[in-house]
Amino acid sequence: MCVVLLLYVAVVACFFPSAWTWLSNNSSNLDDDDAEDDGTLFNAQRLRFALISTFWLEVIFWTAQSLLLLITRNPELFTAWTIKKKHVSYPSKELLTTALNETLQGHLLRPIFLWLFYPLWAYRGCFDREFPSFFELSFHIFVCMLVDDTLFYWSHRVLHENKYLYRTIHKQHHEFRYSVGLATEYAHPLEDIFSNTIPTVAGALLLGSHVSIAVGYMGIKLWQSVDGHSGMALPFPLSPWNNQYIGMDCALAHDYHHSHNSGNYGGYFIWWDWLCGTDKAYRRYQKKMLKKAAAAT
Ligand SMILES: [Zn+2]
Ligand SMILES: [Zn+2]
Repeated sequence: MCVVLLLYVAVVACFFPSAWTWLSNNSSNLDDDDAEDDGTLFNAQRLRFALISTFWLEVIFWTAQSLLLLITRNPELFTAWTIKKKHVSYPSKELLTTALNETLQGHLLRPIFLWLFYPLWAYRGCFDREFPSFFELSFHIFVCMLVDDTLFYWSHRVLHENKYLYRTIHKQHHEFRYSVGLATEYAHPLEDIFSNTIPTVAGALLLGSHVSIAVGYMGIKLWQSVDGHSGMALPFPLSPWNNQYIGMDCALAHDYHHSHNSGNYGGYFIWWDWLCGTDKAYRRYQKKMLKKAAAAT
């Protein structure tokens, strides 16, 4: 248990700052004045952007999945953090294999998409900005989260409330009623584009953020998504996105969304769900669980 816990703490506490430092030190690789973007399809800056971003996202995704696998293999050691749900069972081997295959296919396509859409970031000046101050970094990341959460909430809600869209697109993601890490990217390609990718990149594109922020934020979002599908409610700061005091209830809320398929359309925050009343069933369920727990003690 100690080894797994230490690894997890090391990743959460050190990985992001380390990765940020790495990006800072290597920002010249991403944003190199000498790396001329001569407008050709395979210019150095464009290729570097696609490859470094892909590497960064792969490291985060597989590190997170490996840690979850370690935890899953020792569930008895993490009972306090495992989200309990008796009415749904652990995903079948077939579903896990299908999800793994689709995830791998998506990852192979990722550098191509990044390369393809490079002109968007270039057009927004992401490669021309000065390396950001800490204040600018924090502000841009926060705005990215707000924009992301808003676009995700509404696109996700439409995918549920329109029965045709749910049946043809979003139902695939909800094959995972018992959420595990591999459910993160198991989604229809259209959902991937409109409800996941566009919300993720919209904030940095709107702000014209420095490319380090744009790429760094993609990693933050990916980690949060894996965490939200992990089936674990790791406490703050082990999971930086599970802090109910500031309206972040990612893991519990999204786990409920999968296991009950009712409300909780938000990603990072619960604000939109609270404002629109789409978290009512979840709140009732939480109260019921608390009462049960109190009665059992
Ligand atoms: Zn959903
Ligand atoms: Zn999900």
